[in-house]
Amino acid sequence: NFKKSLGQNFLTDVNILKKIVNAAELDENDDVIEIGPGIGALTEQIAKKAHSVLALELDDRLIPVLAETLEPYDNIQVIKQDVLKADLKQLLSKYFDGQHRVKVVANLPYYITSPIIIHLLETGIPFDSLVVMMQKEVAERLSAQPGTKAYGSLTVRVQYQMHVKVAFTVSKTVFVPQPKVDSAIVVLSPKEVLTLPKDEQLFFKVVKGCFQHRRKTIWNNLQSFLGKQVDKEKLHQLLLGLDVSPKTRAEKLSIDKFIQLTNKIIDSKIIEK
Ligand code: SAM
Repeated sequence: NFKKSLGQNFLTDVNILKKIVNAAELDENDDVIEIGPGIGALTEQIAKKAHSVLALELDDRLIPVLAETLEPYDNIQVIKQDVLKADLKQLLSKYFDGQHRVKVVANLPYYITSPIIIHLLETGIPFDSLVVMMQKEVAERLSAQPGTKAYGSLTVRVQYQMHVKVAFTVSKTVFVPQPKVDSAIVVLSPKEVLTLPKDEQLFFKVVKGCFQHRRKTIWNNLQSFLGKQVDKEKLHQLLLGLDVSPKTRAEKLSIDKFIQLTNKIIDSKIIEK
């Protein structure tokens, strides 16, 4: 009686559960947020290593099941909560003592993997790491290098703040019910941002704008993003000043270039803010 719509694919192989927990390098200094505990198999492995676990589950049918399975553990708290609607800062101060590192460990519901990761990054919580299971294809997008097909606005959005490492891949056959695609465990850890965008929201918009039509040049995408009235000569000079050919495509640009591009757009006053 699984809810496909909630991305319910449960892990049963204890070896894999342990590998996930190992990838998170958990010990008694860690408070862990788990998203979507399901029937609690991963929760249990986390609780054995960490100081405490706060598990957020959306499906209320699972709450009594979890209460029963996890009864032996006194360091687990399960609440019914849609993670995308959660005020995580508030939950953290309610359930954690603030004396421990905060990590996320989760086998994510696949249909909302990217929104969840963005939501976690937007909280501003200084997570020590996020160790998350996702579709292999999304893992490839998150860890992509410039110049590859998988490199896109999601890559830039996430790698702007985090180091991304694919720890290992997991065959679809170890899930019940079996999903259509293989999965991967991804480890995200905070990164020191050297050059900051002068306006973070504009930076995210510029990145999206540049990738709007992947097959179009950066010149075409930027023109549609900035609007028809943009000073073309100025835009041309701006790109040349960054050593970016107007004919290139967004996938060739490093994260740092996108930041520089944003800052130049601001400095040149090419758009009215
Ligand atoms: N952790 C379990 C495991 O590894 O076997 C289950 C993982 S399953 C891929 C995803 C879980 O996330 C399901 O239990 C589902 O009900 C839950 N879920 C789906 N959407 C959610 C949301 N918005 N907030 C919190 N949990 C959610």
